[in-house]
Amino acid sequence: MNDQITEDVKKYAKEVLEMDLVGIAPIERYADAPPEFHPQQFIPDAKAVITMGLVHNPDMVQESHINKAKSVVEIHGMNTENLCAGYKMSRYIQKKWGYRSGATGLPVHLPEAFVKAGLQDIKGALKPAVYFSVKMAAVHGGLGKRGVNDLLIHPEHGSIVRLVSVVTQAPLTGDPLSDFDSICDTCDRPCMRECPTGAISVKQGDPYTKGSIDWQKCFNLIGNEALMLGYAACLQCASVCPHSKQVG
Ligand code: SF4
Ligand code: SF4
Repeated sequence: MNDQITEDVKKYAKEVLEMDLVGIAPIERYADAPPEFHPQQFIPDAKAVITMGLVHNPDMVQESHINKAKSVVEIHGMNTENLCAGYKMSRYIQKKWGYRSGATGLPVHLPEAFVKAGLQDIKGALKPAVYFSVKMAAVHGGLGKRGVNDLLIHPEHGSIVRLVSVVTQAPLTGDPLSDFDSICDTCDRPCMRECPTGAISVKQGDPYTKGSIDWQKCFNLIGNEALMLGYAACLQCASVCPHSKQVG
């Protein structure tokens, strides 16, 4: 039965929602996660997390730290598409299979008061009681690993992917974890070299990622207007990663 629901959910993601990527993480993979990141904070007794994604058109995100206009539209469009996909997937599982589900993890539009205050303290201003990491969900769902750029690196499409997750009580079968562990080991790190703000640093000994981003620097670079459109980063660190390739 679990395999039947899993197959149906994946088919819906690929064929109806036209998602490029889909990976499923059984809840057991969150056993060692920090409690505030646990998906059961969102849906009690959640059994799995489905992470879906779209792959960027590389032409639209190249040099996006210089030509913001083209990537704003690209990112805004993909976030909207992902938001709809997550919402539709949640409703589909609830209506067809009777399991409570909810979409989460999309970039949120920043509170107006915070933007007016001039981006003084992003973490302090947002202060969520519950966190959700789509990148953690993607790794637990077998979609790749997190590199020095602290983004998901998918084996075929690298970091030019945008993600949304659905937390569900459906008892879905998990995808195998990615064995893409050697990412970054032999790379001369263009993500760090070409970041216009020097926001990236290497992280060692962290089970979840090989790098860290000072997001305040990204936000300061792109400006308040772009932030209000949901354009949270310039994406140079994603587009220069040698793993980043488009669909087809
Ligand atoms: S550019 Fe190189 S070091 Fe940076 S995330 Fe990609 S593979 Fe890793
Ligand atoms: S870390 Fe931020 S500023 Fe640097 S390339 Fe990535 S998105 Fe741009």
